[in-house]
This record gives sequence, C-alpha cells and structure tokens, in this order.
Amino acid sequence: MLSANKFISIDHAVVSEMRPLMRTACVTCSPCARLRAPDDNVTFSTCNDDAITSRKIVDVAQISPLHVPILLRIDRGRLDSRFVETFRDIVDGNSAYATEFARGNLAAIPARHLAVVTCMDCRIDPLAIFGCDAGDVHVMRNAGARITPDMIRSLIKSVNQLEVNRIAVMHHTDCGAAKVNLTQLRAKVEAATGNDPDDVEFHLIADPIDALDADLRALAQCPFLPQGLEFAGFIYDVHSGIAKLHDTGRVGQF
Ligand SMILES: [Zn+2]
Repeated sequence: MLSANKFISIDHAVVSEMRPLMRTACVTCSPCARLRAPDDNVTFSTCNDDAITSRKIVDVAQISPLHVPILLRIDRGRLDSRFVETFRDIVDGNSAYATEFARGNLAAIPARHLAVVTCMDCRIDPLAIFGCDAGDVHVMRNAGARITPDMIRSLIKSVNQLEVNRIAVMHHTDCGAAKVNLTQLRAKVEAATGNDPDDVEFHLIADPIDALDADLRALAQCPFLPQGLEFAGFIYDVHSGIAKLHDTGRVGQF
C-alpha cells in the first residue's frame, strides 16, 4: 500500500498510457499529473501547472488495487510512451490477468518435478499439451528445442536446485529450425545489421529424428546431471496435438 501523502510525478505521456489501466478517462489532459495515496483511498489529480485547463479528481477506489503497482512501475521506469504503445496489448493483457490473479501462493519447486524442453514455436502450449498447469513444470524453450550449452545450464539448476527429477525433450513437426537455410539466414542478418553472425551456432535441424536422438544423447552424456536421471523424447504434431513418445533413457545409459 502506498504511504499517506506520497506524491509521485507522472508525465503527460505516461498518464495517457495509464488510461486503459485505470479503466477510466477521468484524469484530464495536462502536462503532468500526481498520484496521491491518503490512507487506503488512492486518488489521482492534476498538478498546479498553469497550462492546465481543466481539473478532475478520480477516486481510484473504483480501480482494482492490483493496478496501483503497475502504475508505479510505469512511473519509475520513465518509459517513453512511444515504445509503451508498442507493447500496449500485453500491458493491457497483464492488467486483466492481474485483476483475476489467484496463484500467488504457488511453490517455486515444480509440483510434477518435471522439466520440459521444447521449441519456441508459438503453436506449442507445453502445459496444455501435457495436462499441466502453472506450478507444475519447468518449461525451457529455444529455437528447435535443442540441448545447447545454455539449455544445460538451466537443466543443471532445475535438477540440482529445484528438485526436478525427470526431463521431457519435445521436438515438433513443421519446425522452423528444420526449414531455415543457414546461408540465407546469415545473409538476411548481414543485410539488416551489417554484421555476419558467423560465430553464432544456430543448432539448425537437418533430420528431425536424428536431431532429437542427438539431443537425448547430449542429456545422457551430460556430466553435470546425476547418473540414472530419466528423460524422454517426444515429437509433437502441430496439426493433431499429439505428442508422440519417441524414446526414453537415463543419464549414463542411452
Ligand atoms: Zn520449432
């Protein structure tokens, strides 16, 4: 809760950005505005700048208290409203999400003690695919669902710090990592930036089955995962929703 009589200056552009969050258009157009929090009753008001042509005070008790920290975050960040506009859809999406939020008591230890490694493809909803929910699993994603050094970094933490004891690697059909041409990709990056990403390992996929097998072997041979830890490889069909179990193994035995 905000302390009593605390004023926080918010520039005009940000006030405009706040409107959808406030679910009201009661803050008038002005060069700036101030947020005041007397006791539990947060109010917005314009400041005393001469340029102000109108003044209106809104009782933010009508607004979900969950929106207050969002407003403060915007102010602290001194965000450029032009860039905020780029992300307006997700800011608004979070506003709605936070209003209904009821998962504040979830544990950081995944309830299923499972890590799912999968691709960043937007058609993949890992939790739904495996009948899971928030709090159940670690989801780790990159282009192609590849077991890269950075994926290993996350898995080491997952297993050794957060009690995960099984890993599912889920590749998928129609994967972009299997369709992109490295030469064309490098040329496109160079044309856009002037820099050739020749040092970047993209972990592209030539043969989907070979790639999944290679990733499972990488897990089996990882010296930083405990011997005997079980893993499974899946291939998810983006058209049917079926995650087909391809193979299983253990660290040290694959
Ligand atoms: Zn993919």
